[in-house]
Amino acid sequence: MNTLKEQSFRNYFISLILSLVISHSALADAPMIKAGTTQQVTDNVYVIPDNRVSLVPNIGFIVGDESIMVVDTGMGPKNAEIVLEEVRKISDKPINYLAITHFHPEHGMGAQSFPEETKIIVPMAQKQELAKKGQGYIEFFSGMSPEIAGLLSDVKLVAPDIAFENKMEVDLGGQIVELYHFQTAHTQGDMFVYLPDQQLLFGGDIIIERFFPIMPDADSSALGWIETLKKLKALNPLIVIPGHGDVSDASLIDQISIYLAALKVQVERYKKNGANVEQATAELVPQFQRSYSHWDEAMWIKFAIERFYSEL
Ligand SMILES: [Zn+2]
Repeated sequence: MNTLKEQSFRNYFISLILSLVISHSALADAPMIKAGTTQQVTDNVYVIPDNRVSLVPNIGFIVGDESIMVVDTGMGPKNAEIVLEEVRKISDKPINYLAITHFHPEHGMGAQSFPEETKIIVPMAQKQELAKKGQGYIEFFSGMSPEIAGLLSDVKLVAPDIAFENKMEVDLGGQIVELYHFQTAHTQGDMFVYLPDQQLLFGGDIIIERFFPIMPDADSSALGWIETLKKLKALNPLIVIPGHGDVSDASLIDQISIYLAALKVQVERYKKNGANVEQATAELVPQFQRSYSHWDEAMWIKFAIERFYSEL
């Protein structure tokens, strides 16, 4: 890791810890998926909602005529076991596929709990990213609280069974699932799950509801995020399941696009006028925090400004 990356990486975790302490004052609560809260979204698509707990993602599962695909695992094997129990309350068909939206610990680091027949599918870029950064993320997250360390203590990083470049199709029996990877945005290996016949999209952490977009690493991309949102919009989804927050529609894509476009214009202006990133941050953060007072995790505005500043 170079110095900039290292610094950003460290800032991310310091900020994350601060945010957890400040906004939830509940580091004592482990980020656990809540059993018994599974919601049916369509005939054959279900979500175990995050219940707005930090570091708990929305987990999805799609039930085809022949098999099931699960989208994300929760943090660590204990969470993944809850996911498997929730799936089993709905269907006893084989869970042939696990699709992981990105390598962050709360999204994919429960993969080891899935049965033998489950094939783990990710983009090639995510496979490489997990190999490179997975262990570091376990260590950093474990430093946040004893509860998180507990959830991650017995994680085994599982190599994916299938890695695709940009697009692949999976047939669950009467249900085609499209998997997409476009470019670096939230992470280098973001994956999207789309059901074309239902126009239903799982957006991973590229699409989050009532949160500021999270750009933790120096190798995440604000410009890539804007481009990715355009491509997701072009799929024409009617139902959008964000990585965190309530199930919604394509207006969620618009809201995040509008925020990022506005921030980009401002950063461009500051940079053109010769302001440094600190000046831009000092003035723009409070401004955007005010305009988006209904969004949580305002600490991420600063990171988005830094990404734009280095990319523009
Ligand atoms: Zn994430």
